[in-house]
Amino acid sequence: MTLTAELEFDARATLGEGPCWDAHTQRLYWVDIEKHQLHLYDPATRTDRSFALAQPVGAAVLRKSGGLMLALQQGFYGFDPDSETLTHLDNPETHLPENRFNDGKCDPAGRFWAGTMPLCETKDCGSLYMLDTDLTVHQKVTGVRISNGLAWSPDERTMYYVDSPTRVVTAFAYDKATGAIANRRVVIEIPDGMGYPDGMSIDAEGMLWIALWDGAAVGRWNPLTGALLAQISMPVSRPTSCVFGGKDLDELYITSASTRLSAELLAQQPLAGGIFKCRPGVRGGPAWEFAG
Ligand code: CA
Repeated sequence: MTLTAELEFDARATLGEGPCWDAHTQRLYWVDIEKHQLHLYDPATRTDRSFALAQPVGAAVLRKSGGLMLALQQGFYGFDPDSETLTHLDNPETHLPENRFNDGKCDPAGRFWAGTMPLCETKDCGSLYMLDTDLTVHQKVTGVRISNGLAWSPDERTMYYVDSPTRVVTAFAYDKATGAIANRRVVIEIPDGMGYPDGMSIDAEGMLWIALWDGAAVGRWNPLTGALLAQISMPVSRPTSCVFGGKDLDELYITSASTRLSAELLAQQPLAGGIFKCRPGVRGGPAWEFAG
C-alpha cells in the first residue's frame, strides 16, 4: 500500500528533525539542527515560532513539570519556552567536542534517551545515553555512528533503535523499572535503494514508521517479522523523522531536510525542508514526557 503526504508547512528547514507532539496544546515542536533552532508549529493557525539556541539542537521532548528538555551539542538542558531560559544539566561528552547530540525521546517511565554522533559522520564514536529522572546520565550503547530512531513497543518490553549507516533497526529487551536494555538483535533490514533509516515512530499496533533519508519515503514495518507493510511516498528525498499528532493521534507529521542536496536535486524538490502530514489510517502510540 502506498500513501501520500501533503505539505503542511513550507518550513524551508536546513535539517528539520525531532518532531514532538504536544497533546496539551495540540502543537508540534520540531528542531532545525543546523540552524540551531527549536520551533513550535501550530496546525490550527498554520503559524510557526522559532527559538534561537546558541548550538546545534538534536532533540526536544516535553517535561511533565513544564517546559521542555533539549539535547544540544553540549549536552542535556532544560528549557522554558515562555522565558526562553536554558538550564544546563549535564554533558557526558566534554571529552568529545567533535560530537553532537542527535535524535532523542522519552521512554515509558519518563527517562530521556538521546544519542550522539561525530560531526564528520565517519567514525563510530557516538553513544546512546539515558538521562534518568534523578538527572543522572547513563551511557547505554557505544560504538554508534549516527544515533537515531528510538521507539518502545506497546507492551513496554522492547526498545527499538537505529544507527543510520548500518541500515538496520535493532531491538533490545527493555526493563521499564530500571531502564536496563539487553539482547540487541536486528529486526528490520532496509532494502537496497530505499535509503537510510532515520527517525521513527511506533503506532498503536506496534508497527514502526521509519523516515527514509535519501529514500523519499516513510515506510511502515512490522518489527516482529521484518516485513515492509506500507509506504508514504514523499515529494522530498530526505524525510528525517515522524510523529503522530492531532486530537486522535491519527495524523503523521513528517519533517525533512534540504541540507547537502545538490543544486540540481534542490531544484527538483522545492519543498525540501518542509513539514508534511499524512493520515495513515492507524493511530499512534502514547508519547511520553520527561518525568524528572
Ligand atoms: Ca535524525
